[in-house]
Amino acid sequence: MTTIASALQAVRSRIALAATAAGRPVASIQLLAVSKTFPADAVRQAYTAGQRAFGESYVQEAVGKVEVLNDLPLRWHFIGPIQSNKTRPIAENFAWVHSLDRARIADRLSAGRPSNLPDLQVCLQVNVSGESSKSGVAPEDLPALARHVRTLPRLKLRGLMAIPEPTDDPVKQRLAFVHLRQILEQLNAAGFHLDTLSMGMSDDFEAAIAEGATIVRVGSAIFGEREKA
Ligand SMILES: *Cc1c(COP(=O)(O)O)cnc(C)c1O
Repeated sequence: MTTIASALQAVRSRIALAATAAGRPVASIQLLAVSKTFPADAVRQAYTAGQRAFGESYVQEAVGKVEVLNDLPLRWHFIGPIQSNKTRPIAENFAWVHSLDRARIADRLSAGRPSNLPDLQVCLQVNVSGESSKSGVAPEDLPALARHVRTLPRLKLRGLMAIPEPTDDPVKQRLAFVHLRQILEQLNAAGFHLDTLSMGMSDDFEAAIAEGATIVRVGSAIFGEREKA
């Protein structure tokens, strides 16, 4: 077995344990393998080990991999910051976007989504850490953004995403995830039908699963440490 295959197996076991501990079906949690900075060959190895959904953060790098790997039935998720001049390649190459946080970007993704593709599945990125994070819509501005996105053709609003401030303190990890889940519940109480909570990474996905994560975004625990940019 390759290193990537055995790492994937270990991550799947951790997910299963966390799901069981939380009294949730394992199938309610989707593993997104975050392959940013890793070559197409690493994605291919993960595919061979059964992985289908991959997350990327940098448009140019991602589109290169999408093209090289177009012989495989992969589902690509965009999880990085979105510049307005990069919305078209995102709309054309990805099945999901997790990092939508502005109406103007939503408009451009909607306009750029080819009509022969299924609707682009989107999560709104919420800033649950206050000042310290530059990305994500503030919780108080979220309902207006969600209402706007709901009106746009070719986008399907699925849920929320957050990247909480990194911390080793499991109590603090869990509080950020509780916060995101509560925000989702408030939106659903207000008439949305959101089914996706994209939260949890290599170091904290157990806490995220305990609080209801339906997609965990795991990079280094599968592919190894990334070079520091
Ligand atoms: C890089 C990245 C991840 C994966 O982080 P790891 O700690 O390597 O698991 C998850 N989500 C986002 C948005 C990322 O940019």
